[in-house]
Amino acid sequence: MIPLKSEKELQILERSGKILGFVMRELEGKIKVGIRTREIDALAEELVRAKGALPAFKGYKGFPATVCTSVNEEIVHGIPSDRILAEGDIIGLDLGVNYQGYFSDAAITLALGKVPAKVKKLIEVTRIALAEGIKEAQAGNHLLDISARIQKYAEANHFSVVRQFVGHGIGLSLHEEPEIPNFGQAGHGPLLKEGMVLAIEPMINMGGWEAEILDNGWTAVTKDRSPSAHFEHTVAITAKGPKILTK
Ligand code: MG
Repeated sequence: MIPLKSEKELQILERSGKILGFVMRELEGKIKVGIRTREIDALAEELVRAKGALPAFKGYKGFPATVCTSVNEEIVHGIPSDRILAEGDIIGLDLGVNYQGYFSDAAITLALGKVPAKVKKLIEVTRIALAEGIKEAQAGNHLLDISARIQKYAEANHFSVVRQFVGHGIGLSLHEEPEIPNFGQAGHGPLLKEGMVLAIEPMINMGGWEAEILDNGWTAVTKDRSPSAHFEHTVAITAKGPKILTK
């Protein structure tokens, strides 16, 4: 069953999401050529804790950091390290926040300096694919209406959608029912209802959709090593339509 959140729970989730949105904007301003991914992580943890919240990923199934830093062909779950970001890199930042036991989750992808036009387009298409998917997060729609809309937009732009990793319900834990694929057939899946909270997160590749996991046991990369982009928001389904909590 997909859990429904009360008005009160949604208010706390909104606070969780606001903290996340704030931290993400701060990080965005700090991403520059020459920064180490480990420095981004340290800053993220400091900012989350300064807001009275906890990093939701750190320690989750043993993940060692506050933020996932996924560079270039890394799709998700990149581990912060001494890697120095260079001109032409792209980086996905994925952050989870736990505020008073209420979880929010969001991701963005940024380019460092000049990147090829096609890479820029990959980032833009992924950002818009998320916005397109969110439009379908309406009471009375089917879950896979979200999925189908994301897939359609990505593939119309000649990119591919990752299959192995999907979005998820969220709220009282980081991952709740349902799984939200970024591909599928409209009109299928459970009916969406007011009070559902969903982490919608397209992961889109320039080349093929296939992924593999690096030897660290975490980091997913594209099998063909083509670049990949990732955007995510935590979204509540309300009477007035989708409400993005992690803006
Ligand atoms: Mg997520």
